[in-house]
Parts: sequence; C-alpha cells; structure tokens
Amino acid sequence: MVPKRLLYIINNNLCTRCGACVGICPHECLFLDKNNFPSQQNPCPIECNFCLKVCPGLEVNFSKLTRQVFEKKFDVTNPMGEFKKILVGHSTNKTVRENASSGGLITQLLVYLFENNKTDGAIVTIADPNNLGKAKPMLATSKSEILEATQSKYVICPVNQVIRTIRKAKGKFAFVGLPCHVHSIRKLMAIDRKFSEKISLIVGLYCHMTLETDAPVDMLEISKVSLSDIKQLEFRSGKWPGGIVVTMKDGSLKKMHKGHIKDAFNILHRLYYPKRCLYCIDGSNEFADISVADPWMKNQNGQYPFHKGSSLVVVRTDVGKKFLDLAQKGGALFLEEISIESFLDLNLLMMKKKRKMAFVRIEKLRNKKQPFPQYHTLLKITNRDRFNEILSSIELILGKTEFTRKLGLRIALSPIGSLIKKIGDIQKRRKRGL
Ligand SMILES: Cc1cc2nc3c(=O)[nH]c(=O)nc-3n(C[C@H](O)[C@H](O)[C@H](O)COP(=O)(O)OP(=O)(O)OC[C@H]3O[C@@H](n4cnc5c(N)ncnc54)[C@H](O)[C@@H]3O)c2cc1C
Repeated sequence: MVPKRLLYIINNNLCTRCGACVGICPHECLFLDKNNFPSQQNPCPIECNFCLKVCPGLEVNFSKLTRQVFEKKFDVTNPMGEFKKILVGHSTNKTVRENASSGGLITQLLVYLFENNKTDGAIVTIADPNNLGKAKPMLATSKSEILEATQSKYVICPVNQVIRTIRKAKGKFAFVGLPCHVHSIRKLMAIDRKFSEKISLIVGLYCHMTLETDAPVDMLEISKVSLSDIKQLEFRSGKWPGGIVVTMKDGSLKKMHKGHIKDAFNILHRLYYPKRCLYCIDGSNEFADISVADPWMKNQNGQYPFHKGSSLVVVRTDVGKKFLDLAQKGGALFLEEISIESFLDLNLLMMKKKRKMAFVRIEKLRNKKQPFPQYHTLLKITNRDRFNEILSSIELILGKTEFTRKLGLRIALSPIGSLIKKIGDIQKRRKRGL
C-alpha cells in the first residue's frame, strides 16, 4: 500500500521517480519498487506529509523557486532561466576529460572541491553493478568514488533517495542531478534549514528527457548480446560525443548503434520516454547553481567547434561562480566565456521545444479535466504549437506498449533504420544549405 495522495500522483503519471519521498520519510515507511515507483513497507504512523511537500511531480512553483534562489521574478518565456554568464570548458586532466560525457567539467570540479576541502563529498550517480543499464545514486566521499561516477546515465534514476543519507551524514556536500531532482532538493531546502546547510553546491544537468531503464537491455537483446557476457555498459564511450558501448567479459568492445549518442538518443527517446518527462518544462535545470550541458552548437560549416570534448556551463548563482573560479584558478579547469548569441542554437531549441510541448500537453489534460503538474505559471501557446505537438505525439506512438517499442527499436537498429537515418541526414543538411 502507498499513502493515498502518493498513489494519486503515481496513478496519474505525475511521479518523476526522483526518489525524494523515500529519502525524506522520517519513519522509513517507503521503498522503491523495481520500476523506481514508491511503495509502502511500513504503515505511515503520523501522516507528516513530508513526502508530498518535497514531491516535484505534483507541483513545482517556478515563481517561488525563482524568488528563493535568485530573488527575481520568474519569466516563463525565457527557458534559459536566470544566469550570470555562459562558459565552455573542460577538465585539464586528459584522462578525466576523455572518460567523461562532455569535457569532464563536473567530475573535475567535484574532485577539486573535495581535495581542497571545499566540500566533504558529492551526491553522484553510478552505473548499478547488479543491474546492467540501470543507475543508482551514491554519496561519494573519496576521489575514486567521484571518478567512478563520471558520464551520463540516460536512464531514470531515483537520485533523491539519498536525502536520508545526507541528513544522517556530517558535513557539506555537492549535489548533481537532473531538473526534477533539483526541483525537489530546492523545495526541501526551503523548508528544512538544517538540510539546506548541508548542500554546498547544486550542479544541474541539462535534460531533454531521460529513458525507461529497459531501453539499454532491449538494445542488447535485439543485438543478441547476452547480459551474462557483459562487464560494463557506457552511454558515452569513445571520442566526443561518444555512443553506447558495452565492454564484454573478454575485454572486447561492442557499439550498440550506428552514429553517435545523439543519433541513438533520437531513436530511444521516442520509444522509451517516461510519461512524466513529457510534461516537464525545465530543460536547462533552472534552479541549479551551475547547469552543465554538451556544447551542441554548430559552426557555419555545420561542424561542432567543441568536438574535442567540452562542457557548456551556465553560471547562475554567486555560489556556482565562486566554486568555478576557484577550480579555474587552481588549474583544474580550462574555461572560456562565450556570447549568448553563439549559444542560441541547438541547445536553446531543445529548451524552447520542451517547454512549449509540455504546456500544450498540460492544456490537453486540463481540457479533459485530468490531473496535471502544477507549475503556477502559463505559457501562451499558439495553434502552430498545438499542431507541432500533434506531430510530436505521432512520433511517440510506437513507445506506447512494450511490444511496439521493441518493434520500433528492432527496425531502427536494422539496415532499414540506417537507410531512414541517412535520408534524414541528407534532408537536414539541405535545410542548412550545406
Ligand atoms: C538523462 C540526461 C539527459 C541529458 N540531456 C541533455 C540534453 O538534452 N542536452 C545537453 O546538452 N546535455 C544533456 N545532458 C547532460 C550531458 O549528457 C552531460 O551530463 C553534461 O554535459 C556534463 O558533462 P561532463 O563531462 O561535464 O560531466 P561528467 O564529468 O561526465 O559527470 C557527469 C555527472 O553527472 C552525474 N549523472 C550522470 N547521470 C545522471 C543521472 N541520470 N541523474 C543524475 N546525475 C547523473 C554523474 O554522477 C556525474 O557526476 C543530459 C544528461 C542526462 C543524465
């Protein structure tokens, strides 16, 4: 059994599976089921409702959080959120840079802060050693643990179940999370001063969306790779931007798809989208101290200027700026400022589209009198947006059942899929006039 209100959130696809309700429960009544939804193990003795107060699935008050973090007014038309400057940079350690998702900025920053006693550890996400393709959170309190967590894991991960561990631990910790994780951490910081004092820095990842955890497992099954022969699965292996690669027990490497991670993600997110991600309006992790992404901008020749592996950083708060300055002065990070104009490309497109589509979908739920996430803000949407959302929903049709999503994946990974992709690439290049 699950408390009635939590059940309402789960049954109406409002649960982000961030894990905060499990982490906050003072009586340890909740646990996560195999799909990372909360479930009850002990009866709730006092109904304190802390689980609901920190839940980012049902409600995130964007105006309130903007006031809390930036002391400013929220502007729904700006999906970038508040920021001081935009930088592109990377770790000055070659191994960290090469092993990471983008430029290893997050991993190097955490290592620097830890080694220089600016933080006692970091909340990070590691590959689950017992469940291939899944991820789990960890309170890293050593350099080797921070290094182990490098790279993005593009699957649902209930990071905020570590709230319980943080509350019990002594010290101050950096937190790394997706927008839904950060929403809930900020909500908790607003009501719990003691917890707030334990968070030294919030590093937010940009997030188009995450994936259901069966995505990598289905990829392996379709490629006829036996789980028992695999040592490790990485989402961002190889030269930037990398791709999904498994390391077999005999040491050989096997790439799971054609092209790079974006090509794989373009297929996977249409088939393995968690329903709640479709209603999320935060692509740039607006309430983090710094938000980190891939620099997907292209130059006039249609090439990526930062192809050697760099991270894009949006510096939002004084805390974020202070720690980045320290790591740069300490020689751990190479950073250069870029203009907002050079940034107004693919990254901004993702954020704008994500927000618009989410508001159209919310409008649909409201019209049908169905429950929807409350953001306490509204974006003006046009008929063109509504039409684009219809097109985007058509793309998501195969993802509706387990059978059709596997079928879609099978086609995408076959020679027919490669041909469709080639045609798409030619059309895109034509559009850009290349
Ligand atoms: C689900 C997801 C969606 C993303 N979507 C986009 C996008 O649309 N556009 C874009 O430009 N960038 C996106 N990113 C961010 C991008 O993939 C890189 O994580 C980012 O550029 C940081 O690179 P880095 O080399 O500095 O980080 P690294 O040094 O590789 O460190 C990565 C850090 O992220 C943490 N982490 C990894 N996976 C998760 C997770 N699932 N939940 C919480 N923390 C995690 C790790 O603990 C580690 O500390 C996404 C990341 C994720 C996990």
